[in-house]
Amino acid sequence: MTHSDIIIVGSGIVGLAHARAAARRGLSVRILEADSSPRGASIRNFGHCCITGQIGEFSELAEAGREQWLAAAQEANFWAEESGAYVLATSPAQMAVLEQAREAKDHTAIDLLGAEAMRDALTEGQGSRLGGQDSRLGEVIGGAFLRRDLRVDPRTAAPALARSLGAASAVELLTGVRVIHVGHGTVETSVGTYSADHVIVCTGHGLPALFPALAADAGLIECALSMALATTPAPLTTSAALLTRTSLLRYEAFSTLPGAEAVAAEVAADAPALLEVGANVMFGPRPDGSIVIGDSHDYAASADPFLEESTIDVLLAEAGAVLGLSPTESSSTHGFEIRQRWQGIYASSAARPLIVEAVDERTTVATVATGIGMTIAFGLAERTLATLHPTLRAAA
Ligand SMILES: Cc1cc2nc3c(=O)[nH]c(=O)nc-3n(C[C@H](O)[C@H](O)[C@H](O)COP(=O)(O)OP(=O)(O)OC[C@H]3O[C@@H](n4cnc5c(N)ncnc54)[C@H](O)[C@@H]3O)c2cc1C
Repeated sequence: MTHSDIIIVGSGIVGLAHARAAARRGLSVRILEADSSPRGASIRNFGHCCITGQIGEFSELAEAGREQWLAAAQEANFWAEESGAYVLATSPAQMAVLEQAREAKDHTAIDLLGAEAMRDALTEGQGSRLGGQDSRLGEVIGGAFLRRDLRVDPRTAAPALARSLGAASAVELLTGVRVIHVGHGTVETSVGTYSADHVIVCTGHGLPALFPALAADAGLIECALSMALATTPAPLTTSAALLTRTSLLRYEAFSTLPGAEAVAAEVAADAPALLEVGANVMFGPRPDGSIVIGDSHDYAASADPFLEESTIDVLLAEAGAVLGLSPTESSSTHGFEIRQRWQGIYASSAARPLIVEAVDERTTVATVATGIGMTIAFGLAERTLATLHPTLRAAA
């Protein structure tokens, strides 16, 4: 049985952030991953670190992780940008929420923008080419710029970080190794048994297989999202994430504000299908010019594997309308050329959106059970390491 200071189970972004935080503290780390490389939620998302959209504990974790994301990108040589994010508003009610959010954030994190400024930011004057008709950006009347948000490319960030950590002398990355049981510093796997002073379990929605009682107690279920990779007739010239009206109903920095109710009523009257599919219509431009578009939310104990075409159609219709795309080409879908579709699944618990628990004196579970793991993973990892026994948290 081989021993290390720390074993991390799972090489999604939560596991990798914890592995990096441990290695930074001079600890020897072994990462055990069932797949051949990260294939879970961490590569299927928008790559949007939605820092401004958080409140309370999540805001603290998001801010604490911001510099770590940027440092990790330098170390592992993956794309990460201090791009900020834009919220595209199509009604005065949405602008009112953005104004309230700006007040709540002390004016420092959010800039309000008019329609012209918004169009120029997204297209650098190519608005007419994007929309294909006039110089308007769809139905956008203005919006906001969220200064602190970051972007990474989800398809490359976690795999690059895994490779980089795996190449470090103090870290051993073992892939194709399924963990079967964890307890008191001993980890039984499909290829043998390992031991560590401490084990951190970061298996995302795979938590119930290892700790069924904890998962059941937290009411842990799966949230399945419909996603698409698309191109537009003229590429967006921003790498920032673009959020829309349904995003104001999802991120707590907006959804908890007094004006959010009016936005919900507007969407219910104007586009009830968006609410039916649990939409958060947003865009994540990638470095190659393609755009990740999503998402819907479908909650179940075990996610239904079948993607409803009508669900993605609702998302694309909203996205195309916001950007002012013309669905004229017979080969296009609401003005987009669709290149890929996929389903993403993340862990979800209404009762415990963050499950961080010492299940025994040498085992900690770290599960982000809401859709912001990319945003808070690095801040969470720093906090977890800081709470371990002093011998396991030598100065970074
Ligand atoms: C479509 C979609 C869009 C999203 N958009 C965003 C966004 O824009 N911003 C944001 O902040 N968050 C977003 N999220 C949420 C975010 O992606 C997740 O919260 C985060 O990736 C969770 O990371 P994780 O490491 O816990 O899980 P995962 O990435 O799923 O990794 C868990 C890993 O554990 C491994 N594993 C599981 N069980 C075992 C075992 N028994 N033995 C060994 N290995 C095991 C798995 O193989 C997997 O590699 C989105 C999620 C989805 C699905």
